[in-house]
Amino acid sequence: MGDFMNNLRHLFQFLANYFYHPILSLLYPNFCKNCLIPLEVNELILCETCILELPKLRNEKHCKFCSSLEFLDMDSICTSCQYGFREIHHFERNISIFIYEDLIQEIIIAGKFGKRPSVWRFFGREMARTLQTFIQSNSIIIPVPISKKRLMERGFNQSTLLAKEMSELLSVDYSDKILIKIKDNNKQIHLSQEERIVNPMGCYHVRFPELIKNKIIYLIDDVYTTGSTVNECSRVLKEAGTGPIYSVTVAKRD
Ligand SMILES: [Zn+2]
Ligand SMILES: [Zn+2]
Repeated sequence: MGDFMNNLRHLFQFLANYFYHPILSLLYPNFCKNCLIPLEVNELILCETCILELPKLRNEKHCKFCSSLEFLDMDSICTSCQYGFREIHHFERNISIFIYEDLIQEIIIAGKFGKRPSVWRFFGREMARTLQTFIQSNSIIIPVPISKKRLMERGFNQSTLLAKEMSELLSVDYSDKILIKIKDNNKQIHLSQEERIVNPMGCYHVRFPELIKNKIIYLIDDVYTTGSTVNECSRVLKEAGTGPIYSVTVAKRD
């Protein structure tokens, strides 16, 4: 009997992955995508119990620039980053909420390619929860932009949706008009470490620099891998006269 229930649960979970389909999601809108219990009105994607079980990243255990698991202190950097074996960093540190694996990876992919805006509201809430204790006034939330072409293909920029949700919950301004992408580059995922560093260069541009002078920037993206995209965005933002820049992402890939 236990086996039967387990199989049934797996079948439902398999189907639940397809609930991201817009029509099916109208039929089955409000179930936790992990344990399949009905969600409360104010819950999105996962129930509170499943949220608590998600693989949260202990940022203080990781190098603040790459994913190296070497340190116990929030401000530490690994030897490779320290001696510039990787790149010069134009941002203070990366703060990721989750580890990019299993359920988190599935939800991110579903949110991106299944066109589920509620996924990004859900993650935006979790990011706001993490930032609320130390975000300062004189800050502005800026999403990592995508090109016009990619925006047309996908219909939305997930980083903008994250930024919008965070801005509402934290009462901090956000703008997706300041940092723009002016050139399309190759997808980072297929490139070597060296190629990833060069690939985003010259792709970003800052408009209205007077709006971000000396401001603390929270630069928002979905997944942090090598940090090269965030670093190039930070370089142009810094050149435009901003204060410190913090990279904040849903998940860090190991
Ligand atoms: Zn659940
Ligand atoms: Zn490092």
